[in-house]
Amino acid sequence: MNYYKIDPDIFSEKWAYGEVYSKCIKYDHTIKPITCPLCGRDIEGSKWLGTYDIIVNKKKLGDIIYGIPNLFLVSERFVSACRKFNIKGFSNFIEVNLYYRSEKLDDRYFQTEINYSMKKVDFAKEQNRKRVTNKSLPKCSLCMKSGNGDLDNWKKIYFNEDLEFDIFKIYERRGELYCNQNFVDFCRNNDITNIGNYFKEIY
Ligand SMILES: [Zn+2]
Repeated sequence: MNYYKIDPDIFSEKWAYGEVYSKCIKYDHTIKPITCPLCGRDIEGSKWLGTYDIIVNKKKLGDIIYGIPNLFLVSERFVSACRKFNIKGFSNFIEVNLYYRSEKLDDRYFQTEINYSMKKVDFAKEQNRKRVTNKSLPKCSLCMKSGNGDLDNWKKIYFNEDLEFDIFKIYERRGELYCNQNFVDFCRNNDITNIGNYFKEIY
C-alpha cells in the first residue's frame, strides 16, 4: 500500500479557506481529551463545541475547505461519496454554518473528526528529519512526547495490522493528515476538488 501526507495550500488563490468566528469558539472541558493509548498523555485539548460558524474568504467552495484552527471541512457530496465507497477514518461529520461576510450560505459543509492510526514514522527511512531528543526524560515511543509518562502500558495495547484507515492522523504529528492509496483513488474517481494536488507520497 502506498501512503501520502496531505499537505494543503490552505490559503489557495483558487478555493475558499475558512476561519472560525472567534466569538463562537466554545470548548467542553468535561469531555476527556484524546490521550495517547501508550503513555496516557493528552494528545489534543478540550473538545470544540458549536455553534460551528465558519467564515469563508470567497464563494468558490471546493469539496474540501481548509483553515485554522485545524479545519478540514468537507462538502455534502464528499460525505455521501465516503459513505457510498466505505472510506474509513472519519469518526464524525459535524454540520457547520458557512458565512461569506454577513451572508449565510446554503451550501452544506461538515467539520470532520479523523481517527488516529497506530502507524508510526519510520525515522530510518525519513533521513531528512532531525530527531529531537531529550535524554534526561523518557520519551513515549508512540506519541514521542517527553516527560514522566506512564510508560508501562505496553501490555494493554497492540498494533492492529488489520485496522487500516484510508485517512488518519498519527500520534506523534498531531497537526498533520495522512492517507493511503485507496483515499487518493477515491478522491480522483469522484472528482473531489481542492485536494488532488496536495498528496505527497511517503517513501
Ligand atoms: Zn505517548
